[in-house]
Amino acid sequence: MNFDAIIVGGGLVGSSLAASLSRSGLSLALVESSPHSIEKTGWDSRIYAISPGSARFLEKCGGWDKMDKERINPVREMRIFGDDLHSELRFSSEDVGVSELAWILESGNLLHGLEKAIEHQENLKIFRPAQCTDMLWSDDGIELDLQDSKLKAKLIIGADGARSWLRQHAGFEANPRPYNQTGIVANFECEKPHRDTAWQWFRKDGVLAFLPLPENRISIVWSIWSEQAEKLVEDPEFAEKVMEASGGRLGQLKLITPPQGFPLRLMRVSSLVKPRVALIGDAAHNTHPLAGQGVNLGFRDARELSEVLLARGPRKDCGDYHLLRRFDRARREDILSMQSTTDMLQKLFNNELPGIPFVRNIGLRMVEGQPWLKNALIQHALA
Ligand SMILES: Cc1cc2nc3c(=O)[nH]c(=O)nc-3n(C[C@H](O)[C@H](O)[C@H](O)COP(=O)(O)OP(=O)(O)OC[C@H]3O[C@@H](n4cnc5c(N)ncnc54)[C@H](O)[C@@H]3O)c2cc1C
Repeated sequence: MNFDAIIVGGGLVGSSLAASLSRSGLSLALVESSPHSIEKTGWDSRIYAISPGSARFLEKCGGWDKMDKERINPVREMRIFGDDLHSELRFSSEDVGVSELAWILESGNLLHGLEKAIEHQENLKIFRPAQCTDMLWSDDGIELDLQDSKLKAKLIIGADGARSWLRQHAGFEANPRPYNQTGIVANFECEKPHRDTAWQWFRKDGVLAFLPLPENRISIVWSIWSEQAEKLVEDPEFAEKVMEASGGRLGQLKLITPPQGFPLRLMRVSSLVKPRVALIGDAAHNTHPLAGQGVNLGFRDARELSEVLLARGPRKDCGDYHLLRRFDRARREDILSMQSTTDMLQKLFNNELPGIPFVRNIGLRMVEGQPWLKNALIQHALA
């Protein structure tokens, strides 16, 4: 039970790291608390917009090709509206010379692909379902207690989500700040064709996004004040409310998965690493979903950490603090800029102080009129 590294959490981000390191020669353990994911027949209500950069990483990991491709849809155009009737920002894949701006897919479909990519790997042992009970540090390694076994490793990686056991147990200082908003997710069949377009409306009551799914279905994320969200998810006329909020853009909407709400918060840690410990994905940062970038940030953590580990010399201890600090430094700017931008937009569009609605709508139109600025924004979203 001696490993080079233990990954705690086999969600999308932890599994992608395991897949990316699975042919590295490092001996790995993956500890996941839930039983195996089940292949779904109905539509999953957790839908993600995956950037082309994340798709390339997942392809390299071997998870992308193992997904059911019939269930994923490209985004070729994005249209973003302000809360007056005129302000619009438009991005198209043609303008930036790429074939798609993002891919829309189900969480379960991708997780299943990643799980297939990591099964039967000689250097990876999977403990699942398994619960962590305790952890001890020493200068040359860590010991992790599971309910019925003890694992030792040079490095432990927390990929165990927003309420991370490892983050708390290792004493990372986190400053969660609730937005008092809830992200409501649901899927619909729509009357009018979506034409591979993602739509987003910055409204007075929150942000509504439509993401295109195959066969003229869409997934929505509606980030709204939690008090309103509680009523909305129970509302028998939920589909009509969504249609009204989108100005009937895609005609009549027929609900195909029940609406589900997720509380939204901003969470930062002062450092992603400690000696022999690193955090990735939602264990390391939570952002507002209005840019649809949470899991993409997590994939970029996994990509960077695996690059740092693979580039170390053959004799270098993979829990070495200087090595981990390199990972921390490389990820800092991307995480901070995504969190600050989404936080600033959330504040700007949930503020009715005199002059603010005018400024935010003018801001959208100004960006639309500046091709270089649009290009800079889209390059970040493609990463
Ligand atoms: C409403 C909403 C909409 C979103 N939309 C998007 C979007 O469009 N695009 C996007 O990029 N992001 C989006 N996000 C963000 C995205 O959901 C997260 O960033 C992503 O799920 C994080 O993945 P993860 O693997 O880090 O964590 P998780 O998905 O939380 O996985 C953690 C894993 O660890 C396991 N685990 C937990 N505790 C333990 C333990 N103690 N021991 C062992 N295993 C453990 C869990 O069972 C789970 O499998 C959205 C978020 C919300 C709330």
